[in-house]
Amino acid sequence: MIERLKKISLGNWMLIGMILGFIVGLILNFFVTNPFIKDIILVNNVFYLGGNGFIKLMKMLVVPLVFFSIVVGVASISDIRKIGSIGGRTIGIYLITTALAVTIALIIASVIQPGDGLNMVGIVKANVSSNVTATDTILNMIPDNPFSSLANGDMLPVIIFGLLVGIILATLKEETNVINEFFSQGNTVMMEMTRIVMKFAPIGIFCLMAKTFASLGFAGLIPLAKYIGCVLLGLAIQAFIVYPSLLVVFTRLNPIKFFKKFISVMFFAFSSSTSNATIPLNLEKLSELGVSREISSFTIPLGATINMDGTAIMQGCAVMFAAQAYGMDLGMVGLLTVIFTAVMASIGTAGVPSVGLITLNMVFNSVGLPVDAIGIIMGIDHILDMFRTAVNVTGDAICTIIVSFKNKAIDLDIFNGAKAPSETWDDITEF
Ligand code: ASP
Repeated sequence: MIERLKKISLGNWMLIGMILGFIVGLILNFFVTNPFIKDIILVNNVFYLGGNGFIKLMKMLVVPLVFFSIVVGVASISDIRKIGSIGGRTIGIYLITTALAVTIALIIASVIQPGDGLNMVGIVKANVSSNVTATDTILNMIPDNPFSSLANGDMLPVIIFGLLVGIILATLKEETNVINEFFSQGNTVMMEMTRIVMKFAPIGIFCLMAKTFASLGFAGLIPLAKYIGCVLLGLAIQAFIVYPSLLVVFTRLNPIKFFKKFISVMFFAFSSSTSNATIPLNLEKLSELGVSREISSFTIPLGATINMDGTAIMQGCAVMFAAQAYGMDLGMVGLLTVIFTAVMASIGTAGVPSVGLITLNMVFNSVGLPVDAIGIIMGIDHILDMFRTAVNVTGDAICTIIVSFKNKAIDLDIFNGAKAPSETWDDITEF
């Protein structure tokens, strides 16, 4: 029995936690009328402790995880100058597609209004920065003192400082070996800590779901369903409208031919929820599509580290969901801040399961939204993680094809099926 339980994956445990929490919450809402047992003991103590304890663990990870990950991500682009235009083009397309992804999410969520009806106003702690001017927002991105920004968890200045450190490490490379190593090992420590914290996710999710549904009953279901709908719609638009359009506009290649070969990579990413683990298969399929390894071996690992369009879509929808639930108007500056922070969060999100949920904290922080709302969507995040990872890896591949096309490093005969992929790029050394 215990052996069998051990075989259940963490993702499935999260699902079990979610379903059990949902059922227990509904039972409490409908059948337990004694307020002492229901509210005082369970909702306000046991579930509160388990749920908010887990949220606090996640919050604990945010600043160091994002900081190390941004520094290491940027510092690893050390070959930028050597690779020249490829590096610049790749990063440019990665950033633009991610910004587009968040924008789509924000538009969808403002139309569908997933957080409407989830009245969480009573818990509002902070004011949204809607009355802060654009100039203030830009100025506030420059840290007065990076250490106090780190200590206070002010994400935008932390990101800017991390970017600067990363760029300098990438430039100085040899001279700063020790510090480079320090950041890369720090990143490994934080990834390991994330893995350990995530083991508590099923309990945290159970408590958060039970707490939410004990208070809201079925009323909590509609907003959650709408939120799932928003994220899935955003992901579908990105994968099946935005990417094919980019492919056609920039390369005139046939997207159907792309998807026919690439669909297996999407399935693998879907079932594993990790862009990192999908790198080898992604490289393989791109070779089968005629893309030069010289390009893909640079762009795909980089994309798995810094390009997370699917994650950005989830974060855009989550921010709107929470803002609506708390009755907050983000204003234009708030929305632009969300776009910027979500793009940066995409750089800071490692390509492993659930990290998008942790970096979501920083997007919430950047506009002063209470992170408690993350508790509600956390229960169903595992399923969305599967879908968004499939989109994340598709974004990496589309960008790679565009960059390869622009650098004449894709064999169009192979892409179009006129030539076998075995005759790939051995003879091509320059692009
Ligand atoms: N699971 C995602 C990936 O690996 C990251 C995330 O959004 O949590 O691409």
